Amino acid sequence: MSKVKYYYDSESLSYRKIERKKSDIVKYILLYLFGSTALSIFFIFLTSSYFESPREKALARELENLNLQYDILNNKIKDAESVLSNIEERDNAIYRIYFEASPISEDKRKAGFGGVNRYKKFDGYQYSDLIKESNKSIDILQKRIIVQSKSLDEITKLALEKEKFLQAIPAIQPVNNNDLTRIASGYGYRTDPFTKAKKFHYGMDFTAPKGTPVYATGDGVVKRVDSRSSGYGKHIRIDHGYGYTSLYAHLYKYNVKKWQKVKRGDLIGYVGNTGRSQAPHLHYEVFKDKVKINPVNFYYGNLTAKEYNDLLKKTSLVNQSLD
Ligand SMILES: [Zn+2]
Repeated sequence: MSKVKYYYDSESLSYRKIERKKSDIVKYILLYLFGSTALSIFFIFLTSSYFESPREKALARELENLNLQYDILNNKIKDAESVLSNIEERDNAIYRIYFEASPISEDKRKAGFGGVNRYKKFDGYQYSDLIKESNKSIDILQKRIIVQSKSLDEITKLALEKEKFLQAIPAIQPVNNNDLTRIASGYGYRTDPFTKAKKFHYGMDFTAPKGTPVYATGDGVVKRVDSRSSGYGKHIRIDHGYGYTSLYAHLYKYNVKKWQKVKRGDLIGYVGNTGRSQAPHLHYEVFKDKVKINPVNFYYGNLTAKEYNDLLKKTSLVNQSLD
């Protein structure tokens, strides 16, 4: 219901009707529209700065959760780092030392992460630092794992080589000697059984009846099976590699041929009394780089510490050798 508006005309002293022009009406409508739009924009601005929309609330929650998950992830990275540190320590202090490889330095294990630009792509956000730090930690961890893995490859190779070496060196006694009663004479100055003069005895004598089995003391290749060396009688020489050779003398019979490959513990011949020998016995020698060395130093292969000590005492007695 539209109201008719009047105004008081002081000249005519009467009320006159207000005539509205059309242009005024358009002006009012525009003004109204502008005003209400401005007001609503202002209102939206006001509410959005002080009150969150449900969508904003959801996003904020998601961001918070993301932050939390990043923290958990970073803690997991730290755990992995400490486990790896422990492995690295053992690698340097035990494995590498044991296999005579030099330890890998801290610098070498963590090298190559000084670059400034590597993480530039993460810049420009509120949580850039967090993302950068996490990425950096994972990169370093990855690098350390690769270095450690290579080190273990190297150690595996060295271990296999060492195993081969330990199988090859002459590390057991050449005859069954469970109660250690077969040692007649050791390495060192002994009385010569024939001349009764003091003479250096370069091997070990094991007393045993003729026909007692003689065993290879390490893996190797049979290099000689003959009696052409003066004094040794029928004898065998095994080349073990790594500069080691073992010699078994005064044999009664052979059980191997020249160039035959043998394993530690293989039956190679039988005790006898051939050559310069006073009674049936095995004369045993070990050479390292063509020098005769004391075989007793190698018998750790199948002896306990006590047995080894007893053996040392017996072999160091200055008695008469059987040659
Ligand atoms: Zn001897």
